[in-house]
Amino acid sequence: MTTSNPAENIADSAKTNYPVVAGWTQLNGHTYVRSSPEWGANTGLIVGSEKALVIDTGGGPRQAKELVAAVREITDLPLTLANTHAHYDHLFGNAYFRNHEGVMDIWAHHSVVRDLLESGLLQRKFVRGVEPEMEKAEGLDTEIDYPNRLLEETPVDLDLGGVTATLFFLGRAHSEGDMLVGADGVLFAGDIVEEGGHPSFEDSFPHEWQRVLGKIIAIDELYPIVVPGHGQPVDMDFVRMQFHKLRQGIRVCEAAIHEASTDYTKAIPVLPYGPLQSRHLLQRLKKTTARAASSED
Ligand SMILES: [Zn+2]
Repeated sequence: MTTSNPAENIADSAKTNYPVVAGWTQLNGHTYVRSSPEWGANTGLIVGSEKALVIDTGGGPRQAKELVAAVREITDLPLTLANTHAHYDHLFGNAYFRNHEGVMDIWAHHSVVRDLLESGLLQRKFVRGVEPEMEKAEGLDTEIDYPNRLLEETPVDLDLGGVTATLFFLGRAHSEGDMLVGADGVLFAGDIVEEGGHPSFEDSFPHEWQRVLGKIIAIDELYPIVVPGHGQPVDMDFVRMQFHKLRQGIRVCEAAIHEASTDYTKAIPVLPYGPLQSRHLLQRLKKTTARAASSED
């Protein structure tokens, strides 16, 4: 159903200069990435000598089944899962992995469980057309499987045998609980970094997101390769560009919000994002500004 076109793979490989192995873009000796055909959401794979870590599991059992088959083309090792954040396209495949691969540990930021308890039902409607069973919560492997290993403030090192994956949190950004995974010079950034499309601001904390991007840039020597939540792998120059764009976006929004006599949505056409993302950015900043003003009273 979603078999990728070999010709496309060759083109992608040439563009990024990485080899493609069994549908995965191989970033180095231990790390791989592949995108879902429907949303371009990236799943990462880090393979050690004893275990493998899968980063993000797709939007339901259909995508997860394909991911598991793809993982098994690369490795037979036991799997641990990591969810970068609490959005459907990154973790609704957890149950399939747990039920079919005997996965014991699913790592995520500690806020993800609460977020899913609150929003899981609502998020099911976003998989419409791609994961019909998941949307209706009907059939096998459609339960929302909550992470059971929770990241707090201290980074966690997972020894996979010959390679260590470091799970860490740099602050709220695209969502309340964006977890990063770094290994062997590759940083899996989740939706903190977006390539090939605009960042999504619905659940975001724009000021904190800008600070998080600054912190990622500060560790550029550790991670020359950055894997976005969606799109092609990028380098730190791309992250720097996203940082400056967000800073500019926040400035334009705040100027518009502070002009009390102006309809602040007039800023939308001059923002560096699409109309929908710009509207969400304005709404999130308006909320933050209102909260800051009321706490000054
Ligand atoms: Zn997201």
